[in-house]
Amino acid sequence: MLKVELRTLEYEDLILEEKGWAKALGIELEPQLNPEPLEIYCELSKSGDLIAAKGWVKGKMLLSCDRCLKEFENPYKSFFEIHYRSQCVEEEQEKDEVFPEGEFEIVYFEGDLLDVADQVRQTVLLSVPMRALCKEDCRGLCGGCGCDLNLSTCGCSGPPPDSRWEALRKLKF
Ligand SMILES: [Zn+2]
Ligand SMILES: [Zn+2]
Repeated sequence: MLKVELRTLEYEDLILEEKGWAKALGIELEPQLNPEPLEIYCELSKSGDLIAAKGWVKGKMLLSCDRCLKEFENPYKSFFEIHYRSQCVEEEQEKDEVFPEGEFEIVYFEGDLLDVADQVRQTVLLSVPMRALCKEDCRGLCGGCGCDLNLSTCGCSGPPPDSRWEALRKLKF
């Protein structure tokens, strides 16, 4: 599981290492984002009332290519670093300590169980690329007949006549 009892962090740092299906780890993910078990590594250390969590998520996602629409596997390994702060820390708060609050996101949580699952989920979601291409030079589908230009060439191949050249030709004397 991706839950840690705060007590155990009081005296020593912890390392979480998990490999499993998102659902089994308490993470809600669409099936395309979890076609195989995730690998998770997370170091946890407590300093004052802040808990630093640093680690990575490794997995694979199924995407469909923006150009040829084919489904492909996109392996990723994404890093995260975050700070947690317990909401009930009025007692024994060390106010003098300086934390780099501006540098990291601080997530507040309640109770004495810290659950890293949501951070893992967000890391996976942030790993989805803005532009999905099965390969950098994917040739996409033919605008004329719709065939996959990576697999075949069709009768309508060749770029359509570019009217800008026509305009240039007229300028020449
Ligand atoms: Zn493609
Ligand atoms: Zn075509």
